[in-house]
Amino acid sequence: MNILVFFAHPDDETMLCGGLLALLSKSGHDVHYLSCTRGEGGECGVPPLCSQTQLGSLRELELNCAVEKLGGKTLQFLNYVDPLVGPENTLFSFTQDQEKLAMELKECIKKKDIDLLISHGSNGEYGHPGHLTVYQAVQKIIQNEFPEMFWYTVQAYYDNSPKPHLLNKADQADWIIDVSSMINEKVRAALCHKSQHDLFVRKKSKESGKSVNVAQVIQTEESYHFANGTHDILKNLPEIKKNLIDLKVRK
Ligand SMILES: [Zn+2]
Repeated sequence: MNILVFFAHPDDETMLCGGLLALLSKSGHDVHYLSCTRGEGGECGVPPLCSQTQLGSLRELELNCAVEKLGGKTLQFLNYVDPLVGPENTLFSFTQDQEKLAMELKECIKKKDIDLLISHGSNGEYGHPGHLTVYQAVQKIIQNEFPEMFWYTVQAYYDNSPKPHLLNKADQADWIIDVSSMINEKVRAALCHKSQHDLFVRKKSKESGKSVNVAQVIQTEESYHFANGTHDILKNLPEIKKNLIDLKVRK
């Protein structure tokens, strides 16, 4: 299959679904990456690895590195600029022009002959406006142009998740996968995003009262919502099927 991974910022691919993406590549599928921005408005690292004006170029390299570690086929940027975080951590979307974004997505789907899309969920995970913009553009393009397209959203909701604050409350998980077999690829991809390392470990370090490293915050459990398509094609791929987590058994 030709798979398109469509996210707002560099690092979303690794932190939200890196294990599945590595598994799909390893299983012989062509995984293409489309990032709306270069994460220009994010953090520059602690201590800073560059100036704020250089951050986009640095994060472009970081995403290139991560896509390679995940076994991706191509990476393309849509050249939107990620706005800076506002007072009291207010987040903004990179565009208000849904129509233009949807048309750019359509063009990419046609050019790469995409069979399956993976994107942000309906609550933008933790409500990030840029993630919500992406979700809405995908929804629109599927409704209007590709009604049969397979579409999965990341970070779907399920009870007893180890990271409930990052899940899309309105998207029920159709399946949960143990990506332990791909943990090395996922950690290597996370290590590429050097400018974001402090951000990755901040919450857990604070909670546990000691500093933790990037590998220690990488999730081995990923959950997905089957958002569109004729049947849940991913759930039935042998390499996915054998790694599914049965919550009834675990409890
Ligand atoms: Zn993001």
